[in-house]
Amino acid sequence: MNKSNSFASETHEELKSAVRELCRDFPNTYWRELDAKRAYPEAFVQALTQAGYMATLIPEEYGGAGLGVTEASVILEEIHHSGGNAAACHAQMYIMGTLLRHGSEDHKRHYLPKIADGSLRLQAFGVSEPNTGTDTTQLKTMAVKKKDRYVINGQKIWISRAEHSDLMLLLARTTPADQVKKRTEGLSTILVDLRQAVGHGLKIRPIRTMMNHATTELFFDNLEVPAENLVGEEGQGFRYLLDSLNAERILIASECIGDAHWFLDRACRYANERVVFGRPIGKNQGIQFPIARAYANLEAARLLVARASSLFDGGKPCGPEANVAKLLSADVSWELANCAVQTYGGFGFAEEYDIERKFRETRLYQVAPISTNLILSYLAEHVLGLPRSY
Ligand SMILES: Cc1cc2nc3c(=O)[nH]c(=O)nc-3n(C[C@H](O)[C@H](O)[C@H](O)COP(=O)(O)OP(=O)(O)OC[C@H]3O[C@@H](n4cnc5c(N)ncnc54)[C@H](O)[C@@H]3O)c2cc1C
Repeated sequence: MNKSNSFASETHEELKSAVRELCRDFPNTYWRELDAKRAYPEAFVQALTQAGYMATLIPEEYGGAGLGVTEASVILEEIHHSGGNAAACHAQMYIMGTLLRHGSEDHKRHYLPKIADGSLRLQAFGVSEPNTGTDTTQLKTMAVKKKDRYVINGQKIWISRAEHSDLMLLLARTTPADQVKKRTEGLSTILVDLRQAVGHGLKIRPIRTMMNHATTELFFDNLEVPAENLVGEEGQGFRYLLDSLNAERILIASECIGDAHWFLDRACRYANERVVFGRPIGKNQGIQFPIARAYANLEAARLLVARASSLFDGGKPCGPEANVAKLLSADVSWELANCAVQTYGGFGFAEEYDIERKFRETRLYQVAPISTNLILSYLAEHVLGLPRSY
């Protein structure tokens, strides 16, 4: 058994405590210092890779652990419960799925073992564009096939980890929008080797955001990529993107559950310790009821994440469950973030307590990778049979 699947036979409890142990080497001071510098958690990502956790979903025949989204969720939840932030690397887990499901056997043999052993990083997913936003089918970045190459021109925004990844899965238009029968056609997924691309047709510009997220803007100016880097069939990229969304929703939801637990632990501890008017502030129902209500919501969200993961791993349809899990988990992590700030009073705003850092970090999940409104639209239209609203 190699390193990347050595934990494959552990129970969930064992896996959880092993991840907790690893996270002990990366305490809140580690994350706080990186946050202040907006620096990438290189040592943490290395440790996670060496332990094999980044290869959780890669099948054993390609050197990974061959486990499911359930186990990946255990890992991500525990990282966030420890006060850390898996946003630095979580995407590799679901981007790899597109390669696994739609890549050729040559692609899989070439890339997956290297991704599993950490010699290659596939952490960047290039979808969003500045002028089309959530309306992905209208994206404009164009990849034109010229003999054995694609020539790429256009712009992407919010492409996270591009500076820290060797490869990027790019969603680009291969047929102009006015020449496709359906809006969802004409887009393709192409693997871009960032090590060769940067400075040869690709420029990366970091975007400083309210939290430490290593996100960037990309500018393509006649970037040439070998035609063999096309993943799957030309024109079917949007369908492949949809395929990966359930895993993404569930994994992000598990991070939110981890954040929510972290806020809950902190809020309860502080409410017991902080004495004002001669008694712990937690004796006041004004402090304890919001925490208790959020705890109830957390329990419900946690069960939904477990249900969505189990359906996903069982190969069953899970679109509604994955979306509801993401919605409720992001809501409860935000609810508990607010509870924690309120409980800490002024100290909630002080950097050294980490509440304000986690508050900023968990806010993202109301907007990205999918905004709350778009989940509600999905549920309204696809589950409740209401008219499409856009
Ligand atoms: C830190 C960060 C990291 C990111 N990382 C990546 C990445 O690695 N790769 C990548 O491709 N993208 C990434 N994104 C992009 C992210 O997926 C988008 O920001 C998100 O999907 C929302 O798109 P938008 O910002 O274009 O918002 P817009 O589409 O402009 O929407 C703005 C607001 O309007 C609402 N809205 C829009 N249309 C409707 C409608 N029909 N009904 C109701 N409400 C609507 C939205 O919900 C949103 O609240 C990242 C974003 C951030 C902030």
